[in-house]
Formats: sequence, structure tokens, C-alpha cells
Amino acid sequence: LADRLQSTMKKITGKGKVSEQDVKEMTREVRLALLEADVNFKVVKDLIKRIKERAVGQEVMESLTPGQQVIKVVKEELTNLMGGEQSKIAVSDRPPTVIMMVGLQGAGKTTTTGKLANHLRKKHNRSPLLVACDVYRPAAINQLETLGQQLSMPVFSMGTEANPVDIATKAIEKAKEEYNDYVIIDTAGRLHVDTDLMDELQQIKENVKPDEIFLVVDAMTGQDAVNVAESFNEQLDITGVVLTKLDGDTRGGAALSIKAVTDKSIKFAGMGEKLDQLEPFHPERMASRILGMGDVLSLIEKAQANVDEKQAKDLEEKMRTMSFTFDDFLEQMGQVRNMGPLDELINMIPGVNKMKGLKNAQIDEKQLSQVEAIIQSMTKKERQEPGIINASRKKRIAKGSGTTVSQVNRLLKQFNEMKKMMKQMTNMQKGKKGKGFNL
Ligand code: GDP
Ligand code: MG
Repeated sequence: LADRLQSTMKKITGKGKVSEQDVKEMTREVRLALLEADVNFKVVKDLIKRIKERAVGQEVMESLTPGQQVIKVVKEELTNLMGGEQSKIAVSDRPPTVIMMVGLQGAGKTTTTGKLANHLRKKHNRSPLLVACDVYRPAAINQLETLGQQLSMPVFSMGTEANPVDIATKAIEKAKEEYNDYVIIDTAGRLHVDTDLMDELQQIKENVKPDEIFLVVDAMTGQDAVNVAESFNEQLDITGVVLTKLDGDTRGGAALSIKAVTDKSIKFAGMGEKLDQLEPFHPERMASRILGMGDVLSLIEKAQANVDEKQAKDLEEKMRTMSFTFDDFLEQMGQVRNMGPLDELINMIPGVNKMKGLKNAQIDEKQLSQVEAIIQSMTKKERQEPGIINASRKKRIAKGSGTTVSQVNRLLKQFNEMKKMMKQMTNMQKGKKGKGFNL
């Protein structure tokens, strides 16, 4: 999905004016991209209709940069499609709060039971009791018990002979005795939706009256996941969805269709097999991820607000003639910092989400301040001609900036590398027309 949408978006971003024809072309591309991504047909149809209405309407024509505005419309509509605002998890006023996990075999129920318990304890300071109600496979009980050990959390089970309704009922009594404020019930799954399974789940539901029924679905199964969600919702009236294996899902079809089809929100996303890889689901972030463009719009806005056109031109000239100095460097840093917290900015850069290393990279404000201090401790001449900075000058600069000689060395080295890179970049761009910098 991302690839196709991205190229369409690229085409339209630069446009100063968007004609009705442009919108038509773009929506056609978006429609194909969504269908390719396995998004439910009816969902796509409605979505495209809304985008068209908004895109050809006043909203776009009156804005200064219609191309960006269209993308914004698409992103907002994708966000709305997935439920808009992030939803909450129930808290019963008569503890324990009971959460029932349901879903097909292999969807990730047991794993998510552990993850959710971990989340509730870590983020909300709760003490959950895990309940093993999948009595059909001994391995399923073991699996949950192992998770309980890893988390040092209690697991309630009565073996494979007991009835799941009894287990769940007794577990809740036990939780009251032990002051567990959440009870998470891991139920059995089947390979397909069938009446036996649904009957059993319905019985558990009637007896324990859960505050939440979370349906766990595998994002990688795409449209099947949506169909599964539809039938579970019809029969059990689920309260929310956990979308697992989103780490392996490249199309986003399930994420985009589930809310529209079931009218139930996706509450959590499973991002890996580990117990801490469960995240509250954010529709807006997912929309960005699907568009594969980070939060391009706000990045563009921020950059435009802060980089003075003339300054940018001067800088380009300096890069070209290689007369870029530490003074310019300092000025650049100032501009970048005016844009806001750096890690926030970094996350808005397209593609960063895909690059694991970068995403986790910590941008250290302190380090930046040190760099500033070092440059400020240089004399005017040193800033213009860093070549003259010898050992004794380095010592003086380090002392003046409260850093060390090796930190000064590192900055000098980075500066040289940066200049080299600029040279390569400007060489590459020679012959190409157009100005401004690529974000
Ligand atoms: P259940 O049959 O519904 O209880 O499913 P399990 O919890 O046993 O999970 C089935 C498999 O999916 C296991 O190998 C899990 O490690 C894996 N799994 C669960 N959630 C995720 C996830 O978010 N990402 C990835 N990559 N694997 C997951
Ligand atoms: Mg299981």
C-alpha cells in the first residue's frame, strides 16, 4: 500500500494548484492502492467518496498549498476510518475488572494475554490474574503458565478436565480473595469460526459478565481477519479488537477495514513476540505509517515557518562554493532547534519508521548544547578557517566550552565529513534544475 500511495502523494505534493482532474486521478490511485492492500471494497468506496467531496470542495481550493491539503484530507480520512481518537480500556468500579480474550487459534490470544497483563501492571500499576480456559490443549495451559512465570504473575488453571465456565467463575472468586484488580481470561480458539466455539464463549460471557471482550486477530491475514471480526462481533458483541503481528503486516488492509465493518475500535497492536511488544493503537500514527510518509505535513510546515528563504539561498551558495564555516553551522543549528524538540522532528521524517536503528536513536539535546559551546569558544578566525586549529588551540577551546579535547576533535572531524558530503551532494545536483532542499 505504502509504495503506491507514496508515489501518488509525491506527484501531488508539489502542486500549487489542484484541478478537479488531479483529484480524480489521485483518488483513482488511492482507490487502487487500497484495494490492492486488501481493504474491504465497501469501505474503499465510501472513503473515496468522502475524500473526493472534501478534496474538490472549498477546503482545498482556498488553501495556500492545495497539494499538501489533499494529502492531509486523505490522512484524516484514513484516521477517521480507523476510529479517530484513541479509545480507553474499561475499569470496573467493583473489582476485579474482567477481560475476556477471544479469537481463532494462532491469532495470538495467549501471547496477548501475557502482554496485556504486563501493560496493565507497568503502565497502570494493576495486578492481574491470568486465567487458563483453553482446556483442549495441555500445551495451551503450559504456555500461559510459562508466561505467568516470566512475568511473576499468578495464573489460575484447573487442568484440562474442568469446564471453562467453572474455571472462569472460580478465577474471579480467587481474584477477589487475592486482591487482583484485573482478571484476563485466555480462551480456546479454533481454526475456523464454528458453533461449538461460539456456544462455549457465549456461556463464559453470560456467566462472568466481562467488562471487556477483546477479539484478537492476526493482521497478516488481511481481509480474513475482517471477516473473522465480523462474525465474532455478531455473536459475542465484542468491545474491542487487538490486532497482532502488525510487525509483519505490510499492507494495512485489516487495520483499515475492521472499525468500518464492525464499528468496534482497535485498542491495541501487537508489534512482535516479546511481552513488551504491545502498544495502544493510535489511528493517526497508523494512517501515517500506511501512507509511509511520517508526519510529512507538519514537518513541511515547521520547516517553512523557520527557514528563511533568503538564508536558505545563501546557504546553498555557500555549499556550492565550499565556503561553509562553523558560523554557518551554528546558525543552522539554531534554526533546527527553533523547530522544536529534536527527537520529535526526527520521527516526522519519512522513512524513519522503517529504519529501526534510527527510530531508536536518541537525539541528545545535551550533546547539541556542547557542540554549540565548542563553536562559541572558537575565535572568529578559527570558525572561518578550522584548519588553523592546532593542539594548543584545541586545548583552549575545550577549556572554554567545558568539554574535552577529544570532543573538540570529534566535532572537527564531523564538520570535515559534513563538508565532504555537501560537496558530493552539490556535485550530484549539478545539472539538475530546481532549488530548495529535499526534506
Ligand atoms: P493463540 O492460539 O491465539 O493463543 O496464539 P498464541 O498466543 O499462541 O500465538 C501464536 C503465535 O503468534 C506465537 O508464535 C506468538 O509468538 C506469535 N505472535 C503473537 N503475537 C504476535 C505479534 O504481535 N507479532 C509477532 N511477530 N508474532 C506474534
Ligand atoms: Mg492460546
